[in-house]
Amino acid sequence: MKKWNLVIDVAKCFNCNACAVACHDEYCGNEFPGYAAGMPRLGARWIDIRQREHGQCPMVEVAYLPVTCNHCDDAPCLEAARDGAVKKRPDGIVIIDPEKARGQRQLVDACPYGAIWWNEEKQLPQAWPFDAHLLDAGWTKTRGAQVCATRAMRVLHVEDEEMQRIVREEGLQVLHPEYGTRPRVYYQNLDRYTKAFIGGTLAGAIGGVEECVAGARVLLKRGGQTLAETTSDPYGDFRFAGLDEGSGAYRIEIADDRFAPQAVAAELGRSTYLGTIALAPRAAARA
Ligand code: SF4
Ligand code: SF4
Repeated sequence: MKKWNLVIDVAKCFNCNACAVACHDEYCGNEFPGYAAGMPRLGARWIDIRQREHGQCPMVEVAYLPVTCNHCDDAPCLEAARDGAVKKRPDGIVIIDPEKARGQRQLVDACPYGAIWWNEEKQLPQAWPFDAHLLDAGWTKTRGAQVCATRAMRVLHVEDEEMQRIVREEGLQVLHPEYGTRPRVYYQNLDRYTKAFIGGTLAGAIGGVEECVAGARVLLKRGGQTLAETTSDPYGDFRFAGLDEGSGAYRIEIADDRFAPQAVAAELGRSTYLGTIALAPRAAARA
């Protein structure tokens, strides 16, 4: 049977918060018996736009990660619930029952993604219920996907085999696969948030004038092996992305006919900007 999935493209999310506001509008002050009790006006972010800065000035990137209930197929919250307070619907959606879950604060800690919010006034654990009341009424999109101007959010109602094909073809990832929860929320370009880069700027004298060096060949190496290759852009910038944080020592080699070959050592903790690398002219290097 067809099940619901959400796909979020990190590269397209620009932190407008429209999805979060639409979620707030849908649930704050509204009751949907069997689906969700009203969301508090303040303090709950059922769609939570998290943010990370990478690099150092002037090479800085900010990535935004909308996080919500993942509607996991192996949901720890379901295991932690008493009296059937959390149910997994046949269509994949996980619902925290707004009556049965009252007082069950342990559910907040059971979710490894921090997607369950405690409603103090109602003494109720709550999470985004995938707008199930709307989908059951015939909607084909969630409120968040409907308002997302960049189409960073997509709702897919497909069979699991079809979803796995899409995951393979589009290179989708889930948050923390090591938790073993089998989320139904998938991410495109997740590396922009989770991974690190090494970058720098090349400069050198061209025709007697100090300039940015565009078009130079830049190699990323480790243990004598070339891991990646790129070319500096018109501003002399180069960047190797998708590296594991804290992955340690790398060597950057720069090759350009106009300049002497140069190598720079880089130690990667978090994303690292190496600054301006001054290239020496070939003639000067020979001298
Ligand atoms: S509406 Fe779209 S672009 Fe805006 S924060 Fe949400 S996912 Fe990101
Ligand atoms: S993300 Fe958290 S609240 Fe949602 S189904 Fe998974 S464990 Fe439960």
